[in-house]
Amino acid sequence: MKKKIVILGAGESGAGSAVLAQMNGFDVFVSDKGPIKEKYKEILDKHNIKWEENNHNETVILSADEVIKSPGIPENAPVILLLREKGIPVISEIEFAGRYATGIKVCITGSNGKTTVTNMIYHILQKAGKKVAMTGNVGNSFAMAVAEGGYDYYVIELSSFQLDGMYEFKADIAVLMNITPDHLDRYGYQLQNYVDSKFRVTQNQQKSDFLIYWAGDPIIKSELNKKKFEMTLLPFSDEITEGMTAYIEKNELIIDYPNKTNLMTIHELALKGRHNVYNSMAAAIAGKVLNIRKEEIRESLADFQGVEHRLEPVITVCGIDFINDSKATNVNSTWYAIECMENDIVWIVGGVDKGNDYSELFPVVRKKVKAVVCMGKDNSKIMEAFKDMVPTIVETSSMEEAVRASYYLAKKGETVLLSPACASFDLFKNYEDRGRQFKQAVRNL
Ligand code: ADP
Repeated sequence: MKKKIVILGAGESGAGSAVLAQMNGFDVFVSDKGPIKEKYKEILDKHNIKWEENNHNETVILSADEVIKSPGIPENAPVILLLREKGIPVISEIEFAGRYATGIKVCITGSNGKTTVTNMIYHILQKAGKKVAMTGNVGNSFAMAVAEGGYDYYVIELSSFQLDGMYEFKADIAVLMNITPDHLDRYGYQLQNYVDSKFRVTQNQQKSDFLIYWAGDPIIKSELNKKKFEMTLLPFSDEITEGMTAYIEKNELIIDYPNKTNLMTIHELALKGRHNVYNSMAAAIAGKVLNIRKEEIRESLADFQGVEHRLEPVITVCGIDFINDSKATNVNSTWYAIECMENDIVWIVGGVDKGNDYSELFPVVRKKVKAVVCMGKDNSKIMEAFKDMVPTIVETSSMEEAVRASYYLAKKGETVLLSPACASFDLFKNYEDRGRQFKQAVRNL
């Protein structure tokens, strides 16, 4: 009898998994508790895959041999608890597709910088003429790319939720950018649970595999000291040089793999800010490990186009720069955004608080922020945190209002920065919607 696979959640990862499972001869059923988007229904129908929406048929689901769960479904969802009780294995799309992928897998995770580094590595490989797919959390299903076939390289962005459903999967090259508190609501408010989840990117790695990581991260450092790791460690830093695979010396980005070479100056990097120096170092090491020529890596990092909603310059209105950093959904990413601003800023912040500790931001806020514009359904925590630090704090409850208030508060030569440090779901569909509404409101000024 055919092995039965049930897929929970018919979004990007669910549709991709369904197609790959069907191609490999499984009996496939897709179930989504909400409505399924038209484009995914079309894909499922085209492949004769059975599906249901706005419902979870428990009889069918509990008859599965294996379940592939969308990363959006939390561990405590009733259907997942039922599956656990019955002992039915629940895995992620990445775990499933990893069984069929034949190319080299470069996997990027961390609390911040994942999408940027994923895009950078993809850009390097593509410019070098490689057959490469960019997949995972960045928005394109890994399983679908595996089903399409023809790729020699998969650059895969992994969120902690995707990593949670991974067991046998092995990254040939793992990139771990940093670990700072995020999503603690999904990890029982225990940082260690979240750290363990991020470290799953290294699981099953052997001697011939690689781990690229930021040596300045205290959490990563302490985890690496806990046990012996088999893979080759490739650390990078902008402060230490000793023992680093990539480092900065007199503004030169130097790569020590396989031999020491001056790659380029940090002024030549397309993306500015200290965090982007880290991101570029990580991508450059990956390029070197994959035998891409130095000249090609340098060119790729110099002409890389930033990703939308990540410190994206919008326009300058009456000498005031507007910057869209809607993707900054936690405190740490906002820290880097404020830190790299050259002018005084009016800062738009707020949304759904994920258990934020704002005190980390106090030094940079004191130095650079002249006014805070809170934008959320509940602004009390932010108001309380910054009320004695910044001369002006205003409360708003829509993007239009927030942009108008910021425009009024900012002077020529200053910057309005949207970097919310919070999730977006109170007022917006997602961070993309928040970023687009920001840009629209700015253009309407
Ligand atoms: P992710 O995919 O991990 O959410 P992104 O590349 O989308 O990360 O960047 C999100 C935000 O995080 C950016 O807008 C920027 O403010 C910040 N950021 C980017 N890279 C880093 C980094 N290496 N360290 C800290 N913050 C970063």
